[in-house]
Amino acid sequence: MDIDWLSGPLLQQLNSGVILLNKQLQVVYINPYICRRADIQLESVQGKDLFSVFADAPKAWLSRKLNSVLSLQSPAFSSWEQRQYLFKLPHLRPVSSANQYMAQNCNMLPLTEPSSGEHFVCLLIEDATDAYVYQSQLQQSNLQLQQVNRLDGLTGVLNRNYWQQQLEVEVQRAGRYQHPLSLLFFDLDKFKRLNDEYGHQAGDIVLIEVAKLIGSLLRETDLFGRYGGEEFAIILPDTPLEGAIEVAKRICQRVAATPIEYQQQQLMTSVSVGVSQFSIATSADELIQQADLALYQAKRNGRNQVVTYYPELIDSLKKVKT
Ligand code: GH3
Ligand code: MG
Ligand code: MG
Repeated sequence: MDIDWLSGPLLQQLNSGVILLNKQLQVVYINPYICRRADIQLESVQGKDLFSVFADAPKAWLSRKLNSVLSLQSPAFSSWEQRQYLFKLPHLRPVSSANQYMAQNCNMLPLTEPSSGEHFVCLLIEDATDAYVYQSQLQQSNLQLQQVNRLDGLTGVLNRNYWQQQLEVEVQRAGRYQHPLSLLFFDLDKFKRLNDEYGHQAGDIVLIEVAKLIGSLLRETDLFGRYGGEEFAIILPDTPLEGAIEVAKRICQRVAATPIEYQQQQLMTSVSVGVSQFSIATSADELIQQADLALYQAKRNGRNQVVTYYPELIDSLKKVKT
């Protein structure tokens, strides 16, 4: 059966774009799908160079591709994942979606007219905006998920896992560029008593408020994490020991001086802080261990104070424990 009659209505109705070009890459035919979206009339563009009709198309790349389809007589493909679009056409999704232009998959097919043997190249353009939008949203929510996975659920500071990864990164950076790096470890004083006296919920509020207060005292580049229950740690990049001690003292003073409101009551708390510096410590583990020892000493000295690690501290603590 002869089905030539079918091609006319199909090209009219087709829900994808068709652009037929001759060997000189001049427009022979553009179907209504493209004409409507590009706001052009077939009659006024026929015979014109493709890149004069679509001035925004990537000329160097696309003409090379189309010429190779013609010379090799083999099809080519362009995906929205490599190039979001070849032709700037509006898409039919609601304007609210972030991208203005139709994402496109494009098949480029070599064709030969049977009677004359003349070669043509046909572009078949599919709207891939749905896939594009879906992937963008997926990437966006993955990013959000990644952010959430880095944070402590109660206080919103970095969680221990992510904080520790960051410490490794910062230790390596400090080693490589010979930059100073300090670490603070702090722990809320007599926190068990506060929980016992006011309840666990009050304890939670205190943790949240203390984290908020301390966060406001830090620089953008400082890395503040929750190490465990009521124990926190702060990486201070590019900060020599004196600077770190200053920050630690400020933290200590501000926490002790700031009442926390809980059910019309003013709760008071304090922190003990241990400080260590990279250079005496030579690895992330050592840095943590030394800040922890200094913190332990601050507790022994009576709490609500700052102690800086010094090598003799190990011996003095050993003596206490034996
Ligand atoms: P110290 O001054 O020696 O640090 O005494 P402390 O009472 O703070 O220390 P201890 O380690 O004995 O008690 C810590 C308490 O912190 C016990 C635990 O129930 C409480 N805690 C840990 N995590 C949370 C939390 O997320 N919320 C609340 N409300 N309490 C917590
Ligand atoms: Mg404590
Ligand atoms: Mg503790």
